[in-house]
Amino acid sequence: MKEASTPLAAETIPDTSIGPWPATDASSLARKTDAQRSRVIYGTTLFVVFVCAALLVMNAWLVVRARTAENEQIARANTNLARAVSQQIDSTAALAEHIISGLVFELERADITPDSLQRLQPVLVNHVAEVQAIKGIFIYDEQGRWLVYSDASPAGTRSNSDREYFIHHRTNPSARTLISGPIVSRSSGEWVIPVSRRINDPDGNFAGVVLVTLSVKHLLSVLDHFQIGEQGAIALFGTDQLLLRRPFREADLGRRSTDTPLQQRFRASRSGTVEGRSAIDGVTRIISFEHLLNYPLFVTVAVGKDEALQEWKSASIYQTAWVVLLCLVVGVSGRHLIRSMRRRLVAELRLRSARDALTEANERLEHLAQEDGLTGLANRRYFDARLALNFQQALASQTALAVVMVDVDEFKKYNDLYGHLEGDDCLRRVSQALRSAVWRSSDLVARYGGEEMVLLLPATDAAGALEVAQRARLAVADLQIPHAASALGTVSVSLGVASGVPQPGSTPFELLRAADEALYLAKQEGRNTVRVHA
Ligand code: GH3
Ligand code: MG
Ligand code: MG
Repeated sequence: MKEASTPLAAETIPDTSIGPWPATDASSLARKTDAQRSRVIYGTTLFVVFVCAALLVMNAWLVVRARTAENEQIARANTNLARAVSQQIDSTAALAEHIISGLVFELERADITPDSLQRLQPVLVNHVAEVQAIKGIFIYDEQGRWLVYSDASPAGTRSNSDREYFIHHRTNPSARTLISGPIVSRSSGEWVIPVSRRINDPDGNFAGVVLVTLSVKHLLSVLDHFQIGEQGAIALFGTDQLLLRRPFREADLGRRSTDTPLQQRFRASRSGTVEGRSAIDGVTRIISFEHLLNYPLFVTVAVGKDEALQEWKSASIYQTAWVVLLCLVVGVSGRHLIRSMRRRLVAELRLRSARDALTEANERLEHLAQEDGLTGLANRRYFDARLALNFQQALASQTALAVVMVDVDEFKKYNDLYGHLEGDDCLRRVSQALRSAVWRSSDLVARYGGEEMVLLLPATDAAGALEVAQRARLAVADLQIPHAASALGTVSVSLGVASGVPQPGSTPFELLRAADEALYLAKQEGRNTVRVHA
């Protein structure tokens, strides 16, 4: 008969000293759960941080992408505009050159006379009337004197020999058409762009200049049709100076285009788009440039960077504000969630440790309630319970149950002789000896009362119980505790054995009484002896 589940083993009462109880399966499971929860909290924190970071990164990416798209869109629109303007200027210049070529052809014929020259005047007037961009057409002799011109006013003594284009043609044998920087016309007082060509006499010497002036006012009115915003600018550059610019400022006309890095970039390729700060008004612009196909001129179309990106900027600020708000909502609710999870975890931990402490205290109390304070053996209360249980088991399995009553001989005299404290110590040593005599884990040694102990031996017949009893008697005798008032000279015990298979209707009390009777006989026999109940 095994009773592994009983709280008290026969040989030793479990250690009841204060100390940590071993971890149970339940508490290690709880620790695992805590670790999982901590992982969940950590994971949730990471998730919230990740979501916010992802939102911000995505927003930054969208803002940058929108900016790139906006830039591309601006560059495309600017390039198209620059191309359109350059084509317009190109065709106007080509028209002027065409008129000049016709006149030079006429003038270089050998049979030209002053009369035939004057007949050209209505032709010039016609040309000016037909082409709006042309302000006037002039023919000068080799000294710069006005020979024929498109205005109705008569030829005077005025000379244009000081003009830059005139000096150029006089000193340069090239027959190419020249487009010069803007000047104020001496005939109309208006700003014009001179387009001119040299006339040669039959010997190839300088014979004068044919000049067509393009109206700056008209060209500006053409440029005014294009929408380029308030900060926008359209400009026409010659080889080394500014010919025309919208917005118009008289001071800008003819301005030498300095060799700035921006100008160098304009001149380095046929067309393109760059970003730069204007030397004229200091505004930073996105500038597209396009060179004319047939003339050494180029057009720039620029939009103010701030103005062009204003819409993108507002949209980006609006979008970023929403994303930040979203991050705040996610962050705050995430923090709230994590906090409540943490609070719950702490509360659970507190509850669990309180429950563990209570369980531990209960177990300790239970032990204390089952133990005899003096000897450390099981106490009477526990013995009674175990006897009843073992009796029932023996009855059910029809096995023998033995009880051995043990009584210290002449203990009253021992007390009288050596004192109560020595008596107590003697009882403790006798208890230890009795413990050493029982070997089975199902056996129990208990203090029955006073100096009486009892051995409860399940599944033990009378012969077995006698053997155990004899072993117990010898173990006590072997202690050799001096007892001057005893016949033996040392402390001894008398033992009464009773064993039997319980029968229906019988009680544990009968077994106890039988053992007690046997003990009585043992005392009768002179003590330090064992008697088995018949
Ligand atoms: P006998 O051989 O017939 O058993 O003689 P006895 O003196 O042992 O018998 P008795 O029952 O008359 O005496 C028992 C004594 O054991 C009485 C009491 O002084 C003593 N005693 C009982 N419990 C304790 C105890 O806890 N400590 C001490 N020191 N003595 C105890
Ligand atoms: Mg007694
Ligand atoms: Mg006694």
